[in-house]
Amino acid sequence: MAQIAPSVRIALGEEFGYPIGTNVEGKIYSALQKLGFHDIVDVNFGADLTIMEEGHELITRLEAYLKGDKEVKLPLFTSCSPGWIRYIERYAPEYLDHLSSCKSPQQMNGAIIKHYYADKLGIPKEKVKVVSIMPCIAKKYEASRPEMEVDGIRDVDLVLTTRELAQFIKRHTIDFHSLKEVKLTSPLANYTGAGAIFGVTGGVMEAALRTVKALLEKEDEHLVDIEVVRGFKNVKEATLTIDGKTLNFAVVHGAKNFKEVLEQVKKGEKQYAFIEFMGCVGGCIFGGGQPITKAKDFEKIDIFKERAKALYKIDEEVVLRRSHENPYIIKLYEEFLGQPGSHLAHKLLHTTYSKKEVY
Ligand code: SF4
Repeated sequence: MAQIAPSVRIALGEEFGYPIGTNVEGKIYSALQKLGFHDIVDVNFGADLTIMEEGHELITRLEAYLKGDKEVKLPLFTSCSPGWIRYIERYAPEYLDHLSSCKSPQQMNGAIIKHYYADKLGIPKEKVKVVSIMPCIAKKYEASRPEMEVDGIRDVDLVLTTRELAQFIKRHTIDFHSLKEVKLTSPLANYTGAGAIFGVTGGVMEAALRTVKALLEKEDEHLVDIEVVRGFKNVKEATLTIDGKTLNFAVVHGAKNFKEVLEQVKKGEKQYAFIEFMGCVGGCIFGGGQPITKAKDFEKIDIFKERAKALYKIDEEVVLRRSHENPYIIKLYEEFLGQPGSHLAHKLLHTTYSKKEVY
């Protein structure tokens, strides 16, 4: 089984001469079929699932804090960027209590494919191999972490980067341009706009706030566009009123900015409820496994902007834009997981992070 990450679809085309920011999702699905994968799903579904679990974690911590629990660790930190995870485990382990226990979308999807979807397909889980196509070299490290398995079954078996998939397609002499656009029918390929924007800095925060606000408030304002967390400022801040409480949020991308924000948290200069950390500048759209941009293109085009624009366009064009509205996510909880944060959800979708030595 293959699964592709949010920002692969808006970058792989560059390897075949398409303009920067072209969405080639349908052609990638088609190429993966030609390469012989038996089934294809989408990490965007895993991103929707991550929002359900991480959103639940945030709500639980906020409720405890508002009831007067002074031990609860806030702000909650996101955990889906292995670049960030390597940093916090090695250079800032004193903050590990703040880290969400959620696995990343690729790992969540891998666990769901093996322990739920395989059963639906009538295939023994041991026989299923999951290959992720990711914008990120650190995702190879993440998939190989000893913790990333359930009952001895690895969540993800192999990770290819966007560039490696392009090489794979070229080596098989597949004419990418003439490929037909394929639409997938698998429930695990179904995603909302919130899942699609995970690939850009601020996307996880925006996706989480859409769902957390809707779930906590009696009257649904249907807030989707949270512009203040978009763009490429090193540290972005947002203040939002949720269920009558005014809360602060921050978004940080690029490891050079981590220290400054962590020190602010330590000094208590500003009380944040939730912080998104992404290892790469710009988020995954500019991950280490993405197509390499020529210097002359850098001079002419704002590549960050073009790739980000392509993800926001997907978000605007899909019918549903909030993770908790994804009908297949709802079904997955009804049929299998129970509730976000359930015992089974913890077993499959959460993990542990710990202090590591630098060398
Ligand atoms: S931000 Fe960078 S390190 Fe983090 S998941 Fe994305 S590509 Fe990987």
